[in-house]
Amino acid sequence: MSKIVIVGAGYAGMMAAAHLDREGIPFTIVNNHDYHYLTILLHEAAGGRDDGEKYAIPIKEVLRKDTSELVVAEVTGIDKANRVVKTSTGDISYDYLIYSLGWVSEYFGIKGLKEYSLSITNLDSAIEIRKHIDNQFQLYTQDGDERHLRIALGGAGLTGIELMGELLDYLPKLCKSLNIPWEKVDLQCIEAMPTILPMVAEHLRPFVVETYTKKGGKLRTGTKINEVTEGVIHLDGGETVEAGTIIWTGGVRANPLLSESGFTVDRRGRAKVNEFMQSVDDEVIFIAGDSAWAEDANGRPYPPTAQNAEQMGALAAKNILLRERRRPMEPFHPRDWGTLCSLGAEVGVGSFMGVPIKGVMGALAKEGSKAKYLWELGGMRLAGNRSKYVMKL
Ligand code: NAD
Repeated sequence: MSKIVIVGAGYAGMMAAAHLDREGIPFTIVNNHDYHYLTILLHEAAGGRDDGEKYAIPIKEVLRKDTSELVVAEVTGIDKANRVVKTSTGDISYDYLIYSLGWVSEYFGIKGLKEYSLSITNLDSAIEIRKHIDNQFQLYTQDGDERHLRIALGGAGLTGIELMGELLDYLPKLCKSLNIPWEKVDLQCIEAMPTILPMVAEHLRPFVVETYTKKGGKLRTGTKINEVTEGVIHLDGGETVEAGTIIWTGGVRANPLLSESGFTVDRRGRAKVNEFMQSVDDEVIFIAGDSAWAEDANGRPYPPTAQNAEQMGALAAKNILLRERRRPMEPFHPRDWGTLCSLGAEVGVGSFMGVPIKGVMGALAKEGSKAKYLWELGGMRLAGNRSKYVMKL
């Protein structure tokens, strides 16, 4: 059997690994920590819904067979010519590579944004956000400076809106514990476009605005962030927002290793693949998840969603095995389950299998999607243990 290496243990990498593991095929997975986390739930960890460790699943708890090898290292490059993955602990050669290193924050060249904002890029940074906010509120009790109680989120896509929902659940409890009047807190989400959540049906968006406004949050649309200096957001038109906590939720791009390693990439840094998830630059490299520039039959790129990543990862692994067995590979025809956006722990909005949902049903559907994912990843072993990982139920 050829040597298969997977880089990245996000949704795509883990689904590829779980597929190979189930088949008892040997492979190596390289990741910069020994756990897998659920990226689309990081807002929960940042907003304080649960302790951070609940969002981390040890990789070896999913991949239990002796046929898999986990290498904990930072990937630093791909040497296509010599079929070698460069890592912080040495080179790893491959016959087939599944590249699934995910995304990094996209700052669009906005001055000072990277330096002076927090972002939810991984589990550690999510936990850091919660600690930062706790610390700012503590500082307010010492010096009374109300800037400590102002939290500004930049970008009202799924990340910004879901994080805001968590914070609107968490902050009143934090205020109560520190004796801070809730009315003094200013939580605002600043969005450049005229609308929030473009991926959610238009008629459902007012429900989000209403829910958040009632709880005391502000959604500001048509308001572009031009620059950030220490503790200050500079908006188009000259207004400034002074905030103790500035969190950037304004977009993502693929890990720059792809362009640095000479792959053909789009404007978001994703590497072009054919319908089999195979790199157009190298037939032994399969690219999956947010790193992949895959297009549907009409030439539209698939969005970087978790459900696409899961299906791409599983297909990449399957196609490598089909190729090895000299059988035709399968094209990527993903199933679209819909988009779910949580608005805190108890309410959600979005669509499930084409049906629009909002309110408690939205939150239940989101919880259901977590159980489904755990089931696909580790069967009964993980899904049956869901109270340990990511679920309240
Ligand atoms: P996004 O690109 O979807 O949204 C970013 C928002 O920031 C946009 O609305 C954009 O207009 C705004 N923005 C950009 N520049 C700005 C500026 N200068 N000033 C003010 N606003 C600005 O990014 P995201 O929300 O981080 O999501 C990234 C990907 O991850 C998406 O594909 C999303 O679907 C996925 N995701 C999914 C879930 C889920 O399924 N529940 C959760 C989080 C993220």
